[in-house]
Amino acid sequence: MEGLIIIQDAVISFIERVKTANRIQKLVAYGVTVILLMVISFIASGVRITYNITVDGNTVATVAKTSVFKQGVKTANDLVGEIGEVEIKPVITVNADTADAEQLSRLILENTASVINGFEVKVGDERVAYVSDKAAVEAEINARLSSFNIEGAECVSEFVKKVSVTNAYFNKSQLTDTETLKANLAKADVVTTARKTTKYTVPFDTVTKKTSSKLAGYVKVTTSGVKGTNQKVEELTLYNGEIINQNQLSDEVLVYPVNEVVVIGTGKASYTSAVQNASAQGFRWPLAVKGTITSYWGDGRNHQGIDVGVPSGTSILAVKGGTVVEAGYKSDYGYYVILDHGNGVKTRYAHNKANIVSAGDRVSAGQVIALSGNTGRSTGPHLHFEVIINGQRVNPAAYLGI
Ligand SMILES: [Zn+2]
Repeated sequence: MEGLIIIQDAVISFIERVKTANRIQKLVAYGVTVILLMVISFIASGVRITYNITVDGNTVATVAKTSVFKQGVKTANDLVGEIGEVEIKPVITVNADTADAEQLSRLILENTASVINGFEVKVGDERVAYVSDKAAVEAEINARLSSFNIEGAECVSEFVKKVSVTNAYFNKSQLTDTETLKANLAKADVVTTARKTTKYTVPFDTVTKKTSSKLAGYVKVTTSGVKGTNQKVEELTLYNGEIINQNQLSDEVLVYPVNEVVVIGTGKASYTSAVQNASAQGFRWPLAVKGTITSYWGDGRNHQGIDVGVPSGTSILAVKGGTVVEAGYKSDYGYYVILDHGNGVKTRYAHNKANIVSAGDRVSAGQVIALSGNTGRSTGPHLHFEVIINGQRVNPAAYLGI
């Protein structure tokens, strides 16, 4: 309001003065008034002195002040180092749209042929690449992240320092080639968390059951063992593919193992019955005396017969009638005799002091065929007796009724 009052006072005093002025003074006053009114109306109608900015000869913007021009050029230069030839020319314009320094710098960059409007790639605060193809660089970033995945595991990877892809202007000469981009991304450390599920076999236990109702040497698997299956879930932490932490999250039984059950006989034979009772197979006791059974079938050492301890020189008797098929000497058996009883049944008598029969002789049940001894691989006088069925040695116990 104060300003308007001042203007009002000035106009009134001006009119007062003009009234009292002479002719020439009046003309000058009117002339000045007309020029002032013209200037005011020019300004009011939007006529200005502005500046036309060209880059490499192309008009890119109009600015209101030279300071805007200077700032715009500086900003553009700072960003890319090298810009096109920028010129400024004053022009009179009417209601022109003018650019600010920031808009001008962008227009300069967009109109410089050697400048690319692309992306900069940063690892943390460090710029590692200028690229023009965003999808291509994102593919490289994902490739780097997934390069440490473990096959068959659920993996999540992330960079230790943030990897960013943001818009940026740069010179064509600064464009990073794919190999350099890969090499620079390879310097970005990656932490991978992998959840791995593994199935594995669990062995079965063997349970031994001893029974005196079976003779020593009796071994039978009554329940076959079955392996079990477990499933474990582990979480691994990898730093650039190297395991730095391993944690088992769970271990679950999918299939329980089945124990193997083995029955082992511990029973001792009754000698009286052994000597006196003829067996179901029609065998008799192979000695003239009872003797002492010192080792059973098996006996924890793959013993394939039974041993009966008797004094050296005790008569060894044929358990059944038959033919002598072998009567000889071997380093392990010492002096031995093999009888063939027909129907695939044979018997052997070993560690003898002397054989009495020869190959081809016919013998009857209870006939003396040899004298017991301690020859061959033997640790004391005894008879080693075997039953051979169709070429296979079997436990003689049943044949002897023990
Ligand atoms: Zn033996």
